[in-house]
Amino acid sequence: MFKIDNIEIGGDRVIIIAGPCALENEEQALRITRIVKGVGAQTFRAQIFKPRTDPDSFQGLGLAGLPILALLKRETGLLLITEVLDPRDIEKVCDYCDILQIGSRSMQNFPLLIEAGKTGKPVMLKRGMGATIQDYLSAAKYITNQGNQRLILCERGIVTFEGYTRNTLDINGLMALKDISGFPVFIDPSHGTGRREMVVRAALAGIAAGADGVMVEVHYDPDSSLVDAKQTISSEQFSELMEKGRSVAEAIGRSM
Ligand code: PEP
Ligand code: MN
Repeated sequence: MFKIDNIEIGGDRVIIIAGPCALENEEQALRITRIVKGVGAQTFRAQIFKPRTDPDSFQGLGLAGLPILALLKRETGLLLITEVLDPRDIEKVCDYCDILQIGSRSMQNFPLLIEAGKTGKPVMLKRGMGATIQDYLSAAKYITNQGNQRLILCERGIVTFEGYTRNTLDINGLMALKDISGFPVFIDPSHGTGRREMVVRAALAGIAAGADGVMVEVHYDPDSSLVDAKQTISSEQFSELMEKGRSVAEAIGRSM
């Protein structure tokens, strides 16, 4: 357990990180932050660097998105998390966020992990989509060996033979990480399913299995999202997640 500002990560309360996949513009970001803050999220996610499979698709606003993150912080006071892809950007990005995210595709980018570890900032390291639990915990040591213990793990689905869902949310992996890692473990039901209609149920399953937090992609007009539209939930679905999530959290002696 550790604290960011007054918020306990890995304590009794299940933490909610919500926001669009990608930061698209100021208006979009402000509107979504207000929605997610209104129903109780503590942390806003919005990526300015998008590691896209196709280099010709939208890559994010890049460093031009940093002033928008600063504005969101001033306007809403939510904690901010954003992904960093390149060690050369870490220092700049650190000035604008509360948690550095390292994505699934970068899980074994060891120079990036080392630089993130050196900052002393809280880091969320997402599980590589093809990484075993052991590979994942070994990668995490590149961060903690720098003296940075403020680490969050996040199960975000793994690649299996199944094609109906984008990834297979590994609830077993979540429980294993809870049992053996000693770090707060979050779950990402958005990338974990890739299907909007499954996200709320997968989030509830994660909370029931002991997740310390949920990271979820939300948009007021999900179909218009520039990235990951199919797995992005609406404001109404997000409210449902919060309401049902609180009941599940209470049933296992936690709050949300
Ligand atoms: C994300 O959370 O924006 C993301 C790209 O997720 P992942 O790294 O798990 O694919
Ligand atoms: Mn996404």
